[in-house]
Amino acid sequence: MTSVGNTSAANLPPGDVRVDIDRLVARIEALAEIGAVEGPDGARGCARLALTDADRDARDLVVGWMTDLGLDIEVDAVGNVFGTCRGSQPELAVVMTGSHIDTVRTGGRFDGNLGVLAGLEVIETLITNDITPARSITVAFFTDEEGARFAPDMLGSLVYVGGMPLEQALDVEAVDDHQRLGDELLRIGYAGTLPCPGASFPHRFVELHIEQGPILEDEAIEIGVVEGVQGISWTQLVISGQSAHAGTTPMRLRHDPGYVAAEIVGFVRRLAGELGGDQVATVGRIELDPNLVNVIPRSATITLDVRNTDEPTLQVAERRIADEVARVAAAEGVRVESTTLARFEPVNFDPAMIDLVEQTASTLGYSTRRMSSGAGHDAQMLARVCPTSMIFVPSANGLSHNLAEFTAPADLERGANVLLHVILALARQNESA
Ligand SMILES: [Zn+2]
Repeated sequence: MTSVGNTSAANLPPGDVRVDIDRLVARIEALAEIGAVEGPDGARGCARLALTDADRDARDLVVGWMTDLGLDIEVDAVGNVFGTCRGSQPELAVVMTGSHIDTVRTGGRFDGNLGVLAGLEVIETLITNDITPARSITVAFFTDEEGARFAPDMLGSLVYVGGMPLEQALDVEAVDDHQRLGDELLRIGYAGTLPCPGASFPHRFVELHIEQGPILEDEAIEIGVVEGVQGISWTQLVISGQSAHAGTTPMRLRHDPGYVAAEIVGFVRRLAGELGGDQVATVGRIELDPNLVNVIPRSATITLDVRNTDEPTLQVAERRIADEVARVAAAEGVRVESTTLARFEPVNFDPAMIDLVEQTASTLGYSTRRMSSGAGHDAQMLARVCPTSMIFVPSANGLSHNLAEFTAPADLERGANVLLHVILALARQNESA
């Protein structure tokens, strides 16, 4: 590893400015107290579903920090919050960073929160060091990124970029208590006045996030340079056959949905191996009805989660699975009803932004690896309206959406320093002398 002390690269300002990791960790810990939940093994995570009282309290805390830093705070009509630090040429389009502060029901302390709080830390670092770049810098947190309470996920950023009409979003009902999203925004005081989609979009967007997977830790790499987000295909299959006695029904006379489900589970696993590369395929849910030891099931409901960074290959996977489902269903004499639950094409981030993240991390002396994201992020929505990229830091044991989610302070610090210098480089673009 090269030393960071003697860096002379052009994109680092004099004095080698760095974030204050203790300040960043203190904010992460304070935010994690809101909706905190304890795991059986001493793990401490968060349950902060979108637009609940806990989410409101967390929003209030972060907005308070933004206010303390002197940021201009704006809220849009779907509850996305933007805190802006004015540059010396505020007529230029802003550089935006940020993520989300909602969590899943058994979420961690870092997912989303890191990207928002590291953005604040970047701004505080610039203020403390008396650095005012040309462009204003905006830290955003987007509504309902997790989609755990209101579907789809990444809803706030999707509406912000114009991918979903505002009225449709406001009418989405919560899966738990059936409250309307628009009513919940009003209730917690975050139905803002900025229009959706945004009236203008950022110059550039960059998001720092935990990897949420095991690759960086496994390979002992410090910074993940994210090239894009995998395409996602979610399908539900309801397989209907003939319920019958497990002892008296000869094998040749069965129409067994459980057997067909099992064949599909095996097939998608083999298919992913055969296609290789980034292909992953998972059956995450199997429900048999009536689910009894001595009864051939009447129906089986399964879900397929199929992902690839390459759209043509993802389509090949979808087609081959559909063909196999049709084949085994016909052979067993069962019916299959297929429903698409979600379908997002792969997202490729901007090549120049990817290079900037990579070069900045290298200049700081950190080891890097290019990778794609297996999870969805707000950045993939922003990529529709401006050049975008992401920075990943390692997740201990690859765990996320888990109370035990953890990233070591040294890793948080490296990620925040990359974010700092990427933002600084971007905020100086087109600066007039
Ligand atoms: Zn996240």
